[in-house]
Amino acid sequence: MQIKMKEENRFDIVIMGSGLGGLACGSILSQRGYKVCVLEKHFQIGGCLQHFKRDGALFDTGMHYIGSYDDGQILNTLFRYFGVYDKIEVSKLNEEGFDVLSLGGKEYQIPQGVEAYRNMLLSNFPDERKAIETYLDKIIEINNSVDVINLREVAVDIMPMKQGVDVSIYDFVTTITDNKELQNVLCLLNSLYGGKKESASLFEHAVINLFYLQSAYKLNNGGGQIADAFKQVIEENGGTVRIKAKVSKILCEDRRVHQVQLENGEMIKADKFISNIDPFLTMQMVEGGNIRKAYSNRLMNLKHTTSCFSVYIVLKPNTVKYQNSNYYYYKQDDVWALDYYSEDLWPQGYMMYSNQSKMQPEYAESLILLSPMDYDEMKPWENTTIEKRGASYKQMKAEKSEKLIALLKHKYPQIEDSIQKVYSSSPLTYRDYTGVRKGAMYGVLKDCRHPYESQILPRTRMDNLFLTGQNINMHGVLGVSMGAILTCGEIDGINNIIRDIKKKKSCPKP
Ligand SMILES: Cc1cc2nc3c(=O)[nH]c(=O)nc-3n(C[C@H](O)[C@H](O)[C@H](O)COP(=O)(O)OP(=O)(O)OC[C@H]3O[C@@H](n4cnc5c(N)ncnc54)[C@H](O)[C@@H]3O)c2cc1C
Repeated sequence: MQIKMKEENRFDIVIMGSGLGGLACGSILSQRGYKVCVLEKHFQIGGCLQHFKRDGALFDTGMHYIGSYDDGQILNTLFRYFGVYDKIEVSKLNEEGFDVLSLGGKEYQIPQGVEAYRNMLLSNFPDERKAIETYLDKIIEINNSVDVINLREVAVDIMPMKQGVDVSIYDFVTTITDNKELQNVLCLLNSLYGGKKESASLFEHAVINLFYLQSAYKLNNGGGQIADAFKQVIEENGGTVRIKAKVSKILCEDRRVHQVQLENGEMIKADKFISNIDPFLTMQMVEGGNIRKAYSNRLMNLKHTTSCFSVYIVLKPNTVKYQNSNYYYYKQDDVWALDYYSEDLWPQGYMMYSNQSKMQPEYAESLILLSPMDYDEMKPWENTTIEKRGASYKQMKAEKSEKLIALLKHKYPQIEDSIQKVYSSSPLTYRDYTGVRKGAMYGVLKDCRHPYESQILPRTRMDNLFLTGQNINMHGVLGVSMGAILTCGEIDGINNIIRDIKKKKSCPKP
C-alpha cells in the first residue's frame, strides 16, 4: 500500500507521548521557535496527569500533589517558564501537617518548611538532635549539588555522578541513629518513590523529601488541568497536540530517524524526534536503525518500580469531614513494610488523598486509596484489554477494594455508611492507560546498588532520537520537568534553556 504524506505532516520536532515529559519538552522547544507536534495514543492527553469524573466527583489517577511551589521555589519557577503557572489552580495543603503519617498507632504531622520540620522532629525526638541535624544537612547538601535544581549552568557533555545516588537511604538513616521510630519518620515519604530498603537511594529521597518540605500544594481541578495548560501553550506557540495518534513505527536510515508511522498508516516527518514512551518499547518500534541487541536487552531487563491498586470512593454528601492533608497509613510500625509484598497479607497500608466538596467545603466529596501491588498478581488477565477482562477480574477488583476499605476503618470506623459508590483500578489499568510497562508507578527502578546500570540517558544511538519522561533522570513532577530540560538541552543547549529560565524568573511577575 502506498502511504501518502500531507505537506503539513512535517515538523521540526515530533514528540511521541503526551505525558508531563512530552508536554514539557513541547513547551520548551515551541517557545524556542521550533515547530512541534505531540502525538498521543490515547483519547486524553497527560498520561499520569489524567483525571476522571464519576457521579460528579473528580479523581486523579496519577499526580496528586506537588511541592516547592511557593514564589521563587523551583517548581514555581519552572511552571512559570513552561507558561502553565497562570493556567492551573492549586491550593496549599495544611501548613502544620500536609502529610499525616499513621504508624504503630501514633500519628505524626509533617509540617511545611524546613525549620518547622526540624522543630517537629526535635520535639518528638529531643535526644536525637545530632542525628536530625546530620540528616537535614545531608539532604540540603545533596539538593545544593544538583545544577538544574539550582539553575546553575552545567558543564556540557559531563553527566556528573549525582551525590548520594549510590548510597541507600535505609543504610544512611540507620547509620545516623539507632532510634527506629525516628528512622521511620525520616523515611515517611518512601512510598512516593516506591521505596525498597535495598534499592532506594539517598539522592532520590533527599530531592523528593526537600521538594515537599519546602511547600506542598494540591491540584484543585485535578492533574488534567496541567496537561490542558501545556497544550494551550504549545498551540499558542504554533505547535500541534494530537490525540488518538498512536505511534507504531519509527523509521530510520543511516542512524537517523526520518519519520514515524501512526497505527492508521499516516506518516509524520521531522528533523528531530523525542520519545516520552517507555525506552524499551521505543526501541522496539525502531526499524532500520540497527539498535544493538545489548542495548535493547539492557532496557528490557531493567527492573520496574511497583505498581498499585487504587480505590476511588464517592462519598455521600456531608458525611466525612474534609482534611487538607494527605494520609499515610502503615499497618505495621515500619514504613518499609509495604514492600514485604505477599498476596495473602495485602494490603499492608495505603496512601489516602481526599477531595473537598465544592458545595460544602468542610466536607470531602471523595477519597482515593492507593496501595502498592505486584504486577505479577495480574498474570491471569495480562493479555486482556480495558473493559474486556471478564468476570473473574471484576471479582478480584471487588475483593481487593473491600480489603483496602476495611483498613480505612481504623481511621473512619463508620466509613461504610458514608460510601455512595466505589470504583477501582489495577496495575493493568495503569499499564493500558499510560503504556508504562507492568503498570509501574514510577517507571524504571533506580537502584542505588547499580546506579549506572539503571540510568537511562536522553541520547540514543540514533543521532536525532531522544528520550524523555520519568525513566530518564527521575519520576514525579520535579524529576520529569528537570528531565525535559535535560532532553531539550541535547537539542538546543542546556545552558541556553537555563539562561532563559533565569531570565523569566527575574522578570517582574504580572
Ligand atoms: C498512582 C500514581 C500517583 C502519583 N502521584 C504523584 C504525585 O502526587 N506527585 C508527583 O510529582 N508525581 C506523582 N506520580 C508520578 C508522576 O505522575 C509521573 O512520574 C509522571 O507524570 C510521568 O510522566 P511521563 O512524562 O514519564 O509520562 P507518562 O505519564 O507515563 O505518559 C506517557 C504518555 O505516552 C503515551 N504513549 C505511550 N505509548 C504511545 C505510543 N505508541 N504513541 C503515542 N503515545 C504513546 C501514553 O498514553 C502517555 O500519555 C504518581 C504516579 C502514579 C502512577
